[in-house]
Amino acid sequence: MSTQSTNDQPHIAIVGGGICGPVLLLTLAKRGIPATLYERDDAIDARGHLGGMLDLDWETGQRALRENGLQDEFLKHARRDAEELKLGGKDGVVLFHHQGSKPSADVENLKNERPEIDRRVLRKLLYAALPQDSIKWGHALTSVKPLEGGQHELTFSNGLVTVADFLVGADGAHSRIRALLSPATPIYQGISGAEILLSPEVAALPENSDISNSVGKGSYFVTEDSKVMAFQRNGDGRIRAYVWMNKDIDWVLPSDPKEAKQLLLDSYADWAPWMRKFISLCDEEAMYPRPLFHLPVGHRWPHKAGVTIIGDAAHLMAPFAGAGANLAMVDALDLGLVLSEVVSKGLQGEEKEAAIAGWEEKMLARGEHWASITMLSAQGFFSPDAPHAVVAMFKQFMG
Ligand SMILES: Cc1cc2nc3c(=O)[nH]c(=O)nc-3n(C[C@H](O)[C@H](O)[C@H](O)COP(=O)(O)OP(=O)(O)OC[C@H]3O[C@@H](n4cnc5c(N)ncnc54)[C@H](O)[C@@H]3O)c2cc1C
Repeated sequence: MSTQSTNDQPHIAIVGGGICGPVLLLTLAKRGIPATLYERDDAIDARGHLGGMLDLDWETGQRALRENGLQDEFLKHARRDAEELKLGGKDGVVLFHHQGSKPSADVENLKNERPEIDRRVLRKLLYAALPQDSIKWGHALTSVKPLEGGQHELTFSNGLVTVADFLVGADGAHSRIRALLSPATPIYQGISGAEILLSPEVAALPENSDISNSVGKGSYFVTEDSKVMAFQRNGDGRIRAYVWMNKDIDWVLPSDPKEAKQLLLDSYADWAPWMRKFISLCDEEAMYPRPLFHLPVGHRWPHKAGVTIIGDAAHLMAPFAGAGANLAMVDALDLGLVLSEVVSKGLQGEEKEAAIAGWEEKMLARGEHWASITMLSAQGFFSPDAPHAVVAMFKQFMG
């Protein structure tokens, strides 16, 4: 038993407080199982300006909130009208238009919807529901040492050393904990570019209504010539765009914002005027490189006692199917339910390992399914037949 165990409960350590970390802590806390969440950021808003919106699916992201009593809170913040989606090519002609739902639409309809919520708002909602003394901000894990009996010794950059009876890596794409289970490392997708944005104030100016009206209430994906501009309107009125191109791994976005802008303008020279205007006007203080990585499709590892990984740490994939955050949330819910049962029933030995290994297999099969869909979707976005290939794909997917 670890130095931090209380009341004979095992010390469950969750490393990473992005999306799946807080969902796991919440699921355990709601069922009376103590755990500790270690996050390297100093506070919830340390990188609050980053991250766009996430559309949550009924069976995965929404389920993780529903089964933890947060459906009403989600509905207060969800943007059902932001499900509006447009697709088209570089000339700005809309080839596919899916209207969002009315904010007041029947709750029953949620089963067939994917309401949007800003990542920042989702995390706030989750963290407000957590036991605050279980969250350790400013704890960057620097090393892990396996001990006897499935325990692990964790060392953090602030000097804390602690022992976990069960360790969960919720530490994202470049997980440190993954190496305890698998030699896999993230593979470059051959796609890089930038995240750029217009602040709410700039987006609202009357002279920028051409941009604002084109983007609409939700998302507009523009694809052609093996390039993508994926626009989205965030809840605070900000308009964000992911600008992606096929590039070698050594390609870098210039660190000087003016040079970066010019490079993007040159790359998108024959795209519609409002798209080029978006690049010209984008906030020079908020231009971020966005190379895309993924883990091998079907990533797996032999089950190991005392440690597992969830979310991007387990099945990192590019964002072309909108699956990553949804999977991270349902991984955390399902693991939380299994661990609650293991602890409350006092399962030990083979029974305990079989329960956790069974959940791991289910998670990895689901991850493999979505990683395959994501690969096909990425091919569509960058195919010579884009935007028509993408329109066909979305028509099939959205019925
Ligand atoms: C540009 C882009 C757009 C996306 N759009 C969508 C979308 O529309 N829909 C969707 O479903 N998904 C989307 N995703 C994917 C989604 O963001 C991820 O799948 C999701 O964030 C994974 O959650 P996570 O909790 O596993 O990891 P993360 O959210 O990355 O969280 C990991 C956390 O671990 C912490 N951490 C890392 N290392 C350490 C350490 N050593 N010690 C302590 N803490 C540590 C980090 O600070 C971070 O808070 C997108 C991804 C990208 C890159």
